[in-house]
Amino acid sequence: MARKYFIDTFGCQMNVHDSERLSGLLDQAGYEPAADADDADLVVINTCSVRERAEERLYTELGMVPVDGSGKRPIVAVTGCVAQQEGRALLERGRRVDLVVGTQALTRLPAMVDQLARDRPERVDINPYDNVSFPLGVARRSDPVKASVTIIEGCNDFCAFCVVPFTRGHERMRPAAEIVEEVRLAAAEGHREIHLLGQIVNHYVAPDRADCDFAQLLELVHDVPGVERIRFASPHPRHVTDRMIAAMRALPKVCRHLHLPVQSGSTTVLTRMRRRHTREDYLNLVDRLRAAMPNIALSTDMIVGFPGETPDEFEDTISLTRTVRYDSMFSFKYSERPNTLASKQQADDVPPTEKTKRIVALQELQKGIQDELHRRRVGSVVEVLVDSTSRKRAWELAGRTSGNTVVNFNAPRELLGQLMRVRISQSGPFSLRGELVDTATAIGDQAATFQFGRDRPPVAGERN
Ligand code: SF4
Repeated sequence: MARKYFIDTFGCQMNVHDSERLSGLLDQAGYEPAADADDADLVVINTCSVRERAEERLYTELGMVPVDGSGKRPIVAVTGCVAQQEGRALLERGRRVDLVVGTQALTRLPAMVDQLARDRPERVDINPYDNVSFPLGVARRSDPVKASVTIIEGCNDFCAFCVVPFTRGHERMRPAAEIVEEVRLAAAEGHREIHLLGQIVNHYVAPDRADCDFAQLLELVHDVPGVERIRFASPHPRHVTDRMIAAMRALPKVCRHLHLPVQSGSTTVLTRMRRRHTREDYLNLVDRLRAAMPNIALSTDMIVGFPGETPDEFEDTISLTRTVRYDSMFSFKYSERPNTLASKQQADDVPPTEKTKRIVALQELQKGIQDELHRRRVGSVVEVLVDSTSRKRAWELAGRTSGNTVVNFNAPRELLGQLMRVRISQSGPFSLRGELVDTATAIGDQAATFQFGRDRPPVAGERN
């Protein structure tokens, strides 16, 4: 009988994609996926250290590893950023940990599991590896519509608050030929939207083609048949070039959305954060982007209460938010992360109550901006790529506009993965609601007898 594995994933899109790659590697090695940890011979906990108390969460997960009456339990491997940071210490502290596999050694996991039965097995690999190639076509993608494709691993920037350069290592680029082939395979499997991933995704320079920067890579991916949309995360403002803006403007499959992390609206705070751009540089970039693409949606990451942040510096964040009017924002209260430059050099001196006051003010402002931007869209017709179905209501679908706004509407599940036009009828700060346009042409005869929102097909076992 085939051995079974279960992967528990925390953290960012890159970690989720690493788990998809690990699943594929384990499938190749003859394993089968298990429905849950209770049914698994191998449990992989793919950790993230960006959020607070990452290690505590890992120990909570370890406490939930199933142990039967005779003390038998599955093999447990810890992977990801906490594994990279803590290394062998996890074996010593976590009695249920068998293997620790760092962020750069994922492809070694199946072999390390096999070696466990031998004398003196290798139980920890947190070595740096320069090679970022990954067996093509291996990733077992969990999303039927969207496919992540990693183009860069690691980062050399060492922003003061960020642990990534310590956990993911120095910046390494994947060959363009390999990226394009992976996109081709994903599109052939039916994935319509490609997400290019990298810590500074727009710093890309192909190691196998002298002429290929990020703008050129967008063109290569754009040419792949079957790809309908291209997104990427996350770019750094100081690497947004005129060539990149021109490519975004010229290539219709590249979504009209840019996540442009700013972190603070104050140049003095940005200097302490080691961001290497000023408030003025950033606002100038926003102007250039909007001049080239007036309808581009912008989102950002913001940190409040960074060490030494004064009320005036926080006011700069508020005024920058008012000026840019982001379509969405991820905002965080600063908290120290082990090993970061800020944790070693700058005292976390903004009182917790003050941080809370500031984030509440920022989030209130942002919510009001989103509410207003969304209200203006009521009555318009937008194109959405249908990317998910509601777990509770079988007839409800959700999609995203090119600008990345979520739109909910009633329609049959067969439309998953299709580009549809939706007329917006209601708005809220976090999403829009609408009705499908051109339903008959979209879904054929089935639509002719289907009254959206009123008379929907019965769903077995459904309750009100
Ligand atoms: S550029 Fe991004 S990944 Fe790199 S150190 Fe700064 S915040 Fe972290």
